[in-house]
Amino acid sequence: MHRFLGFCAAFLMLSVAPLLHAEERPELAVAVDLRHVAQDLWRVDYRFAQAVTAVKLPSIGEFRNKEWKVLTPGMDMKSRADFDVIASKGKPFKTASVQIRTFDGWSPKEYVSFNRFGDGGTSVYLGHLQGDVEQGGKTLSMHTDFKLSGLAQENVIAPPTNRLHPGGVRGYAYFGPAQAVLAGAAKVLIDPRTPQWLRETILDVGAKTSAYYEKAYQRQLKDELLIMVSIGNVESSGFSIKGGTIMGAGQVSYRVEGKQVLIDHPKLREYVSKNVAHEMAHIWQLAVSRGAIGDAQDPWIHEGGAEAMALDALAQTGLFSEESVQAYRAKQAATCEKLGGAVDTYDGIYACGLMRFDKLGVGIVPLWRSMMAATEASGAAYSQQMIDTIVSAK
Ligand SMILES: [Zn+2]
Repeated sequence: MHRFLGFCAAFLMLSVAPLLHAEERPELAVAVDLRHVAQDLWRVDYRFAQAVTAVKLPSIGEFRNKEWKVLTPGMDMKSRADFDVIASKGKPFKTASVQIRTFDGWSPKEYVSFNRFGDGGTSVYLGHLQGDVEQGGKTLSMHTDFKLSGLAQENVIAPPTNRLHPGGVRGYAYFGPAQAVLAGAAKVLIDPRTPQWLRETILDVGAKTSAYYEKAYQRQLKDELLIMVSIGNVESSGFSIKGGTIMGAGQVSYRVEGKQVLIDHPKLREYVSKNVAHEMAHIWQLAVSRGAIGDAQDPWIHEGGAEAMALDALAQTGLFSEESVQAYRAKQAATCEKLGGAVDTYDGIYACGLMRFDKLGVGIVPLWRSMMAATEASGAAYSQQMIDTIVSAK
């Protein structure tokens, strides 16, 4: 399985550094057939190009333990510290079938496995079906080819394929009555429960920041882009928006929770705008033909970078007033100061990451334009060294 970006929560929701996997590991072709078989029931059939001795899927909290049932006779699943392992007592196998029930829980540090939409539809995070396989003592990444089928009458919307890592991590697939609609260059699928102010804010900020990034960074979108918005837990107190951008996989997914979602308040519009501008900044960080975000990369580079790119875009497009930009910077500066400037915590990655970019003395636009050119020229991931080289040349 290949790397993907961690969560980019505007606030409340916590996350850690991205789950990263060894790069350039050998791969094995795997056909994955995901079928929606009943309202809350799914069936997954894996077919491996060659016999394997185990399937190793990175642990996702309680999800597999609670909701997965291995159907293939003689085979079982065991949860280890970091992986859920499906095996057949050491015997090689070429197929494996599991039954999965829709899971409503989730781990704060992970993508949500399932989202329920107000139209009765469900989206499934395909990345949770992907991982590695073992052949004896050798570990290979799945090079996955998905086939998706819904219930009768159900519309299935597949996430774009992974451009930077063919066969790599895929985003959310939607099963339900809705159709995606075109909004500029992106396709959007918005939960019908989404209140008007939120729909408007996501679409408006998405369109304006995209147009800005395209012009400022002199790059067009490389990915086919599918934006999904789902609403969950409207009974819970407060408000949270959690956005995720899946590296090279052409998808931004937002999950909004809390009863304040029904309130159109300027502060909430601001939170949402910042989050959308941040996610779109990642899309542009990834608008390169190779390189971008590497396994060993410090997350403060892409997260702090996205924060700085977002503030610039929000200011330049007039979506944020100068005061709002300054207030956000001041808040992040205070957070970073409390952390002693370190980027080894979730808050530090964002707050001190932003501070580090602010202190470089090079404009964020020329800096990231050079970063994108450098990653593409060498194939190397964004790095501190790349930043240093660019800064010293300016
Ligand atoms: Zn982010």
